[in-house]
Amino acid sequence: MDKRIFVTKPFIPDLDEYIEELKEVWGNRWITNMGPKHEELKEKLKDYLGVERIELFTNGHMAIELSLQALGLTEGEVITSPFTFISTTHAIVRAGLTPVFCDIDPTDFTIDPAQIESHITEKTVAILPIHVYGNICHIEEIQEIADRHGLKVLYDAAHTFGETYKGKGIGSYGDVSCFSFHATKVYNTAEGGGACFKDPKIGEKLQFIKDFGIIDEERIGYTGPNAKMNELCAVMGICNLRHVEEEISKRGAITARYREHLEGVKGIRLNPVNKDVKSNHAYFPAVFDKDAFGSDRNDVFDALRKEDIGARKYFYPITTATDCYKDRFDADETPIAKQISESVLSLPLYGDLALEDVDRICRIILSCSK
Ligand SMILES: *Cc1c(COP(=O)(O)O)cnc(C)c1O
Repeated sequence: MDKRIFVTKPFIPDLDEYIEELKEVWGNRWITNMGPKHEELKEKLKDYLGVERIELFTNGHMAIELSLQALGLTEGEVITSPFTFISTTHAIVRAGLTPVFCDIDPTDFTIDPAQIESHITEKTVAILPIHVYGNICHIEEIQEIADRHGLKVLYDAAHTFGETYKGKGIGSYGDVSCFSFHATKVYNTAEGGGACFKDPKIGEKLQFIKDFGIIDEERIGYTGPNAKMNELCAVMGICNLRHVEEEISKRGAITARYREHLEGVKGIRLNPVNKDVKSNHAYFPAVFDKDAFGSDRNDVFDALRKEDIGARKYFYPITTATDCYKDRFDADETPIAKQISESVLSLPLYGDLALEDVDRICRIILSCSK
């Protein structure tokens, strides 16, 4: 038997369930371009996420990149943080905007609101914060700064599917909030993404931007790519949505087990718990302090790997330290983000991970303590 443990495993429905749902698609031969399954998934997601409006995409990256465009942001600076998946920074750059990097709050890894204003210039057009690991950004402070300076707010909400903050769906905050439905996320459509917003004008723009800028048969209004979600992915999404609550609750039991072992251990810091947030238990990051724990993050990573356990240095490196950006931006300008990226490890987490495996993973981690 394969004893390897991966950092994550995609959730998939029973094949029979998927095939049953697919029969309609085979019946009507409508396999992409906003077919009935696409429309059905949109309605179901609005309901589940508690948002007024949503548009669907091929992936979460396109949701972010095209939402910047739908907000009418064609030039200027966007304040963001580099402690994220490369997609966030790429989206800003690819949209023709200039990312300006602000450091993060060391406790929850999201953008530090106290440092945002010092990065605002007359060129600033938006703030693009990331709800890192499902930790909710300092929403009220960010919105207050944005309002004071007339800036748009677009949340990278890729990690927060199904979360609520103060009882409201997390997708309802900011001008736009973007989810990823990638295979590795809590909820997936194999590949897919969604942008949530309140202003119907944003929806109208997104609908044609994501379809080559086609307004109608004879009018092309925008230089747009093809970023439409197809019916096979929508069907995957409809099936997986039926099971997402169960998946989240299984993940909750796993994170509780991790906490039993690791909470309070000298030199290990865990994700903070926010009582205003209904968590989706997307990730289980642990930050290792070598001086207190005796081993550093890389030692723990190697010890797990020796046992065929795949933890992930997530996020490492920070986006400003990648080959793609290191000559253009300075990773040392965000020392906290850099330091966390060098000491954090995301531990294996998915609904079907056995609690005994969590026990074993934690034994290996604790054996690294000196
Ligand atoms: C996954 C992810 C994305 C991109 O989503 P895709 O669906 O893979 O395109 C963007 N930002 C963050 C923080 C992510 O984790």
